[in-house]
Amino acid sequence: MRTLRGHHLLCVHGFRGMGYSPEFVEKMGEIVEEIRNEEKDFVIKVVVALDDACFTCPHHGEATCEADPDSEEHVTSMDRKVLKHLGIEQNGVYLKSELLKLTARKVHPDDLDHLCQGCSWLQYGVCKEGIANVRAGNIQEKQRCQNL
Ligand code: SF4
Repeated sequence: MRTLRGHHLLCVHGFRGMGYSPEFVEKMGEIVEEIRNEEKDFVIKVVVALDDACFTCPHHGEATCEADPDSEEHVTSMDRKVLKHLGIEQNGVYLKSELLKLTARKVHPDDLDHLCQGCSWLQYGVCKEGIANVRAGNIQEKQRCQNL
């Protein structure tokens, strides 16, 4: 079972190899590959807390994000917004396929302006592109633009 924090349910669709450290990029790449593999379905526990990807990030503390004094509040607020938008529960366990369907149905690319407000990656446009791909049924978009 994978554990993913709420806002990472969106990040996985826009991920193009950018990240906070080589270890983070490797872990996120591994998660993203599983998410985009249409042959694979598995359960995901959705949390408002550090997840598998966060623990490879150089900015994580013991139980919180410590990138800057406001980052824990910022990332947990994004998690909560995504959970509410998708209509799912904190610590709920869902099939990957179920989460993908919910994302495709309920998230529009421009919703990211609100859901991801304050995220430094939003400006690149790849996350909105990723959501548009999910809505179009194309979750296997390859990780292009590795060095964007
Ligand atoms: S804008 Fe930030 S929080 Fe939103 S999907 Fe992209 S990387 Fe994730």
